[in-house]
Amino acid sequence: MKAILKDLGLSDVNSGAGTGTTWLECGGEILKSISPINGQTIGRVQQASRADYEKVISRAEEAFREWRMVPAPRRGDIVREIGNAVRARKKELGALVSLEVGKMRAEAEGEVQEMIDICDFAVGQSRMLYGFSMHSERPRHRMYEQYHPLGPIGVITAFNFPVAVWSWNAMIGLVAGDTVVWKPSSKAALTALALAKIIERVLQENSLPEGILNVVIGSRNEVGERLIADNRLPLVSATGSVAMGRHVGQVVASRLGKSLLELGGNNAVIVSSQADLDLAVRAILFGAVGTAGQRCTTIRRVIAHKEIFNPLTEALIQAYKQVVIGNPLEDGVLMGPLIDGAAVKNMQKGLAELQDQGGRILYGGEILSGGIYDVGTYVTPCICEAQNDYPIVQEETFAPILYLIPYENLAEATQYQNNVPQGLSSAIFTNDLHESEIFLSHMGSDCGIANVNIGTSGAEIGGAFGGEKDTGGGRESGSDAWKTYMRRQTCTINWSGEMPLAQGIEFGVE
Ligand code: NAD
Repeated sequence: MKAILKDLGLSDVNSGAGTGTTWLECGGEILKSISPINGQTIGRVQQASRADYEKVISRAEEAFREWRMVPAPRRGDIVREIGNAVRARKKELGALVSLEVGKMRAEAEGEVQEMIDICDFAVGQSRMLYGFSMHSERPRHRMYEQYHPLGPIGVITAFNFPVAVWSWNAMIGLVAGDTVVWKPSSKAALTALALAKIIERVLQENSLPEGILNVVIGSRNEVGERLIADNRLPLVSATGSVAMGRHVGQVVASRLGKSLLELGGNNAVIVSSQADLDLAVRAILFGAVGTAGQRCTTIRRVIAHKEIFNPLTEALIQAYKQVVIGNPLEDGVLMGPLIDGAAVKNMQKGLAELQDQGGRILYGGEILSGGIYDVGTYVTPCICEAQNDYPIVQEETFAPILYLIPYENLAEATQYQNNVPQGLSSAIFTNDLHESEIFLSHMGSDCGIANVNIGTSGAEIGGAFGGEKDTGGGRESGSDAWKTYMRRQTCTINWSGEMPLAQGIEFGVE
């Protein structure tokens, strides 16, 4: 553990506030980062106080005035160097992600790879911040739209993707000409600091001013609430639970700021009678058990046709029995711990409610004990029989619980799929073209992501990522998500020497 920290430039106690090139002497309380793998303290963070937060924000404001004047392709060059610096530390950073949030090594490194990929994407995007031009209705006038940098932006991230989610926002924000103030989850504070330290060298070597990429770790009162209410941040991008997003969205809206919300999901896979069941089982296993059920895109519901309900259930139980649960840093382990004891309690509460509401546990759901398991964060993944309208099935329980729900026809299955408050990711397994087209049509899935013969998790960075309804409506990562990080301006230039008004209005005095 010590070797990994040292490798990444971290010490026993680390400053919780940095401006990209300098670290503050923070005045907040000490935060311990405890590994869910073994309950040991990995390291400590001296959190930021209000005063530290103020210093960071003013640096971000000052730096914005300089950074916005750097040509976008040059900003892309910096992002390329950041991507290369992270590429060189992929293994070490991945190991820290595993240690701090308990993901298996391949998934942790995969998440670092997502950051590398978004850097590559952002480099290209830096030369493609296109606006439309249009024909004016007035003679000898030119009209076009352009995109300008927005300002210092706030980025709040969840514990479960401590590298990727920030990078989707920050790397696109950087090429857009914004400076970034990152408030990471307190449950993944060291990963954020390690990342900031990897990037620090790039910023220093390019003689960039402090304040471009900032990190500030602190309590909700000292930092979180101040950041969302801060008028100096025109955009707050927040990833986390629906409850958090509801609050953040309201606070940001009350000051007429922009928020980009990436919140909880309640993702379903429809398995049709026309599906390749082997394919479906493999996808469901990864989607439901991967990251111990702690992805926003985790498969939580399987809506299975009555004809294949029993064989699918049997195949899933057989697959679940083979999942090796343990230290995610060890080879062969497919499922690590939940993030903490509170998450385990929440899972148990969810299972108790399910049974009260008429559901049945078919496999798993136990808390493991003995040896490494005694830390109290390891559980067996769980398969349950349920109905879609049970109150507990309508919620996102952030744990490896999979609800199996039978259906008779596709209209009913689609109704179940859509009939939850959240709208992040969805999928259908079928080899029937007609079924897959219905699912993808206006009468099909209402989610931000809809897949055919692929599970709901593991999105690529090239598409816009996000969901509808209680998931918050935000889009980040690829496609044209960059536009959220810029301000749009419509320009009209009159080179006619006359003063014609739009809509042919005559207004003047003789
Ligand atoms: P959380 O809501 O507990 O915390 C998320 C972040 O919000 C943390 O940094 C937290 O400190 C911060 N926060 C909470 N209250 C705040 C406030 N009042 N002001 C400012 N910041 C505040 O979520 P979590 O447990 O870290 O993560 C799990 C949740 O995140 C799940 O619901 C999951 O689905 C969701 N998630 C969504 C996406 C997505 O892209 N849609 C991605 C990852 C995780």
